[in-house]
Amino acid sequence: MRLPAYKTKIVCTIGPASGSEAVLERLILQGMNVARLNFAHGTLRGHSENIRCIRAVAAKLQRHCLIMADLPGPKIRIGKLLDEPLMLEKKNAVILTTKDIAGTPDKIPVDYKRLPESVAPGSMIFLNDGFIQLRVEKVSGEEVFCRTVIGGPLLSYKGLNFPGVKIFADAVSETDLEFVAFALREGVDAFSVSFVETADDILKVKAFAHEKKQSAYVLAKIERAEAIDNFDAILSAADAIMIARGDLGVQIPIENVPAVQKKLINKANLWGRPVITATQMLLSMTENIRPTRAEVSDVANAIFDGTDAVMLSEETAIGKYPVETVEMITKIAASAERERKAVSALADLPAYFRTGAASENARVEDIISLNAVESANALNVRYIMTGRQSRNAAGLISRFKPDCWILPFSGDEKTNNFMTLSYGVYPVCPDYKTNIFTDMAMRFLSGAGMVEKNEKVILLDNEPTRDMHTDSLKIISA
Ligand code: PGA
Ligand code: MN
Repeated sequence: MRLPAYKTKIVCTIGPASGSEAVLERLILQGMNVARLNFAHGTLRGHSENIRCIRAVAAKLQRHCLIMADLPGPKIRIGKLLDEPLMLEKKNAVILTTKDIAGTPDKIPVDYKRLPESVAPGSMIFLNDGFIQLRVEKVSGEEVFCRTVIGGPLLSYKGLNFPGVKIFADAVSETDLEFVAFALREGVDAFSVSFVETADDILKVKAFAHEKKQSAYVLAKIERAEAIDNFDAILSAADAIMIARGDLGVQIPIENVPAVQKKLINKANLWGRPVITATQMLLSMTENIRPTRAEVSDVANAIFDGTDAVMLSEETAIGKYPVETVEMITKIAASAERERKAVSALADLPAYFRTGAASENARVEDIISLNAVESANALNVRYIMTGRQSRNAAGLISRFKPDCWILPFSGDEKTNNFMTLSYGVYPVCPDYKTNIFTDMAMRFLSGAGMVEKNEKVILLDNEPTRDMHTDSLKIISA
């Protein structure tokens, strides 16, 4: 078995440029760990074909691939335009209407009935991720009269943002729940919830899956100011986090995004929750074979910040070079990881972690995960293996972004696929049965030709008769 040259995980959005068996196979071979199906676009039939195809290719290549259904949530969009692209000229008047008409440069339809009561004279409206900006001058009935502050070309169904305005819609709508029901039937592993406001939005999806007698991993997309305010509660409810910089960069001042990214990543690391940094990572590769210096730097910096995964959107969904983009992002990851200092999460850990001071609140799994990483560093160990009963140990070790690999013994398929989202975590499946974890682990490593004689390996496990917490750390030689 050969492990990759980098430990960062790669999320690819699947779309027309990547939804064929041939391209999916090349994406997985090149390093895709997570396939993101964006339910804001495409048809149910198309998603279902993609799911089937990803599963078939991953099985053939014997790779784990997390399939994540991204729920659109209350993204407000303009309607269909008569002629595209429609040019909005600076200083011109334009009306937004909630009537269902075909859009012209004078009047553009919006699919949100409560638009007129949501804005007031002076409000700013951002179109197409902020590339076009309008200022509201007057509201009358179903119409909002605006003046174009920044003009530009506009296409049908582009998104609308009103920073700081309360949206009268839940993050998880009835349509989203219909998508959840569909995607569960199709066997997806995880859902990402857009425009999360509070932890309840995450719990709603979990409860819905539970009602259907299924379990699902649920990720919170952080793309509104409220989610930043409620981040601790969201972290405790969600299985993972996505820093969704596209919408976030209009919902909060764009210049604040880099600092927010650092803080959120640091906190997610601290809690042991995998975190994805998303949007515009190598955007220019949608058209060009080479990225810009700024994009390369952005990917590397997300890794320096401690992200588990980096995400591609248009690049792999509709871009000209989906496979080349994945190849490029893995090269950037390999280089950045060589230079990355230990993640600063440690500095913010509770005192008992840092100082070794006795504390009633110290959690055994925290202490064990820290000690596993410190032992691996001290002994230059290449692998930490975790037992089947120690389900969350892999994620707790991964948060320190160690130089060694974390190899959990796999459980069910969903769990394996989810664990692949964490930095440096690579679930392995021994193909023989024994209850003795040490035997199984060492036989696996030597069978796969991954260890040298006398090489030290770290094993984490728990006593099967006890609760599910990791309670033992062993350092053994091959
Ligand atoms: P989206 O989410 O692509 O579904 O909008 C990501 C983002 O907003 O960054
Ligand atoms: Mn978004």
